[in-house]
Amino acid sequence: MKKPEQTDLLEMTHEQLVGWLADRDIAAYRADQILKWIYLRQTDDFGVMSDLAKGIRTLLAQHFIIGRLGVERIETSRDGSRKYLFKLRDGRYIESVLIPERDHDTLCVSSQAGCAQGCRFCMTAAGGLERNLTRGEIIAQVRDIQRRLDDPGRLRNIVFMGMGEPLANYKNLISALKVITDNDRGLRFAGRRVTVSTAGLVPRMADLGRDSRVNLAVSLNATDNETRSRLMPINRKYPLEELLGACRHFPLPAGRRITFEYILIKDVNDSIDDARRLARLLQPIRCKINLIPFNIHESSDFQRPAEAVIQAFYDVLFAKNYTVIIRRSKGEDISAACGQLRARSMGP
Ligand code: SF4
Repeated sequence: MKKPEQTDLLEMTHEQLVGWLADRDIAAYRADQILKWIYLRQTDDFGVMSDLAKGIRTLLAQHFIIGRLGVERIETSRDGSRKYLFKLRDGRYIESVLIPERDHDTLCVSSQAGCAQGCRFCMTAAGGLERNLTRGEIIAQVRDIQRRLDDPGRLRNIVFMGMGEPLANYKNLISALKVITDNDRGLRFAGRRVTVSTAGLVPRMADLGRDSRVNLAVSLNATDNETRSRLMPINRKYPLEELLGACRHFPLPAGRRITFEYILIKDVNDSIDDARRLARLLQPIRCKINLIPFNIHESSDFQRPAEAVIQAFYDVLFAKNYTVIIRRSKGEDISAACGQLRARSMGP
């Protein structure tokens, strides 16, 4: 049971920990040792931190906990996808999905409990936003699941496509990304192996390009403002022209591309004209396209297009030399929460 005065160390930055130690005349390099135990060796027990003096270990145990998320339920799909339902300390729920690929695993994490964006194809949208996740809650999804794996080394990709709009929780997102991609005392994921997906929070896209080296994915889903505003209310604030402008100016590292996700919905955005418009719109942008046939769920009247329609849409883009992939959903037999969550992740 957490005592009131104890702080979760996952919520503390390196600098904060150095400051806390300095106040007690403990050298800064001890912070590195502590963080290596937490993130590289992944222990929750101060007692095993053998390169720290006993007095420091006792002090840490008095003041800190190393936070874990309560696993409420784990569902495994026939295709091997595993959904973790976590209960947060305040009783709210979030989920993360582990997606097996051929030679590695991808973890899809949440950034908010609920979501304010109201995308019409998404189950999460119905409940609205409950709150932002803390930095520690974001990190703990990765850390807790990695520790449960028989082969933690298989987990190589992290995608922010679970519940929530990551860029709407920007400060905590960036703080968590620093730990996830920290090679010295963090979780050691390469920036090119981490993808943040946005519904189109334009002002924050430039910030993400400046503050991190992770991949950007954009949930596009329409080729004209009228349709996109109907599907995704955020488009009323940041219409396609602004969104695509932000994509054109996104500082892509060499060899990287922006991923555009396009959920194909029957008779809404799946016509040949849509495919041609999409090809034109994305022409100036170094990108790849993920087509995601809509998954029918009870919160939506939308339907999935026929296979021939999906293929025809794909063919138009392929003929225009786009890298385009039809993402067959994983975990269709488990109750994934978000339209994006259901889609398979993209690799680097
Ligand atoms: S699709 Fe993503 S951004 Fe849109 S409502 Fe769902 S969780 Fe929010």
